[in-house]
Amino acid sequence: MRSHIRGIGMTSQRTRDRLIERLREKGIRNEQVLEVLRGTPRHLFVDEALSSRAYEDTALPIGFNQTISQPYIVARMTEVLLATQPQKVLEVGTGSGYQAAVLAQLVPKVYTVERILAMVPLARQRFRELGLRNVSLKQSDGTWGWPQQAPFDAILVAAAPAEIPPALLEQLIDGGRMVIPVGAGNSQTLVVITRRGNRYERENLEPVSFVPLVGGGNG
Ligand code: SAH
Repeated sequence: MRSHIRGIGMTSQRTRDRLIERLREKGIRNEQVLEVLRGTPRHLFVDEALSSRAYEDTALPIGFNQTISQPYIVARMTEVLLATQPQKVLEVGTGSGYQAAVLAQLVPKVYTVERILAMVPLARQRFRELGLRNVSLKQSDGTWGWPQQAPFDAILVAAAPAEIPPALLEQLIDGGRMVIPVGAGNSQTLVVITRRGNRYERENLEPVSFVPLVGGGNG
């Protein structure tokens, strides 16, 4: 009698395996990242009514006009960040907490900030339930980074600004990497920035669709 356990049918190993196969087909190569996505219960990061769709490769609504990112995008951004073996990572835009939970299983220390106060306790509770003790979370406008904890080896931004916030560039260590969607409305590009002293190398990866980064005087 385990049928009362939430979303039990949808969390079957087969359903999750299928998602991982799909991510492989789309080009995700990092086995560590694939294993962590396989093992992370995404259905716990969405509303119960949506848990049957949690292992589809799509973004899903999480309230407040926000979305949990598509698994492919989470995998892609995580893979890009891990390439430099960061020890200390900042995420901007905690949302459901799913991306941070994935990161926390792959890097020693994760800092994450969320603008919407009401979303913070739920994400924090999920980290606790999953036993992830290496995530620090606070409510703030991530346009300004997290100056008290800076610098960071890597920064992952989960919402799209029109321009890259200068504070985030400043809070990267030399050789550090940032992955960030940049652009307005329907025209966004996933960008990788690598800091080289006072220079910043920029590589454009692929078109993406994120909710806007709100703040920094823009909202
Ligand atoms: N990483 C999240 C994605 C959530 S969507 C997940 O895995 O579920 C992006 C999130 O960025 C939203 O929750 C939104 O409220 C937040 N956000 C938007 N602008 C922000 C800002 N300036 N500072 C911090 N968070 C912001």
